[in-house]
Amino acid sequence: MPELLDPLFALKDAELAQLREKVFTATLDRVFAAHPYYRRRFAQHGLTREDVRGLADLAKLPFTTKADYVADPEAFVLGAAGAADDTETVVWDIMYTTGSSGAPAPFVSTAYDFVNILALNRNMLRLRGVTSADSILNLFPLTRYPHGAFARAMNAAAAMKIPVVAALPGHGSERRPELGSRLDEVAAIAARSGATILWGVPTFIRKVAARAEELGLKLPAVRLVFVTGESFGEAARQDLEQRLRRLGAANPVISVSYGATEMQGGMVECAPGAGYHNPAPDQFLFEAVDPETHAPLPDGEEGLIVLTHLDRRGTLMLRYALGDVACLTRVRCPRCGALTERIVSMPRRIDGLVKIKGMLVNPQVLVDTVSAEADVLEFQAVVAKDDPGSPLSMDRLVLKIVPAATASANLVERLQHSVYRAIGVTPAVEETSTDDPLISGRDWKARPIIDLRKQG
Ligand SMILES: [Zn+2]
Repeated sequence: MPELLDPLFALKDAELAQLREKVFTATLDRVFAAHPYYRRRFAQHGLTREDVRGLADLAKLPFTTKADYVADPEAFVLGAAGAADDTETVVWDIMYTTGSSGAPAPFVSTAYDFVNILALNRNMLRLRGVTSADSILNLFPLTRYPHGAFARAMNAAAAMKIPVVAALPGHGSERRPELGSRLDEVAAIAARSGATILWGVPTFIRKVAARAEELGLKLPAVRLVFVTGESFGEAARQDLEQRLRRLGAANPVISVSYGATEMQGGMVECAPGAGYHNPAPDQFLFEAVDPETHAPLPDGEEGLIVLTHLDRRGTLMLRYALGDVACLTRVRCPRCGALTERIVSMPRRIDGLVKIKGMLVNPQVLVDTVSAEADVLEFQAVVAKDDPGSPLSMDRLVLKIVPAATASANLVERLQHSVYRAIGVTPAVEETSTDDPLISGRDWKARPIIDLRKQG
């Protein structure tokens, strides 16, 4: 018998509204008592608890941006005042997201929040059609700082009580590179694990599938592929499906998610093209708002996607712009029957950040890092595909530099190391001269990263 969606998704409109009101009212009590950032903003706006009774007053709340958060992330963590018990204040874990100045911004989850995170991860798996017969291959690399993707796959398996194997692709850590797996090992782990779900960055999954094919390995058990982090077009979907069929998978389904550190999870599809479902309508509320006035827009109109945490106790945001514009609908999903918000268009980033190999990169951090290197006279960063002829190719970050005549011999190695430490991506460094048209005749501060992926 197939496992059904969480009963949460079967609620009637009035029941869901009532549940949301209940948790949000308790959250608002805590925010007014103990949220450093919002207490300050509310005072500036003259807002009292009586003015903000519940969800009907949401539009009265000040709008929050990623810039507000990363400027002072500690001010977004709830204090202890009004806590029901210590699960609301004891820190379970801290994940990090891209910050403004190079220092990643902490996102704190308390013990109370971690239980919610398990629940929302289980909901994500159920929406994606996972059953107790499935098993996960976690293809996310170990990151320099705690980052949602790697931990999410492990936690989701725990919440669903299914097996997970972490392949730890890449270098593991700088101090213990032996912990990581090279590509051939990853392909071998994929084959021997017999996992039914591959979960990782799409360009890397494609690389693993390609290598497995070269090595003559088979992945017949694979029936689901979870991809996150990068936009994934129809051509890429078909390509990956065909590769997996050649590896023996009977009917692989690619399931795309729209994730964010601020959710500790992602909005997921129940079927390709069915939209990205809010996986926990009792924890998150999404709005699409007018980018200028921040007024809520009707269903189906493209607007800034705004997240409100209905039930968090660590880092907590209200009416927080995730940095993308997209179309939202609140209509029950015609395919799976879930009552929750869905994003029904491909989200587009408008906050100036760039995604490279699944990592959210602040161009200014890259500029600051390379600018700090005295041996570099000029530079230009270029994000391109490994194979420019293929839209499915891996991302490649190339740093073109004009070195000083007196530059030390290990400049390239030093730059690769410092850029990796700053943004989590290792660049290929190419030396060039000031005659290079990429270097001459433009101001790299205005366009520090040229994104060639967007052409064609
Ligand atoms: Zn659905």
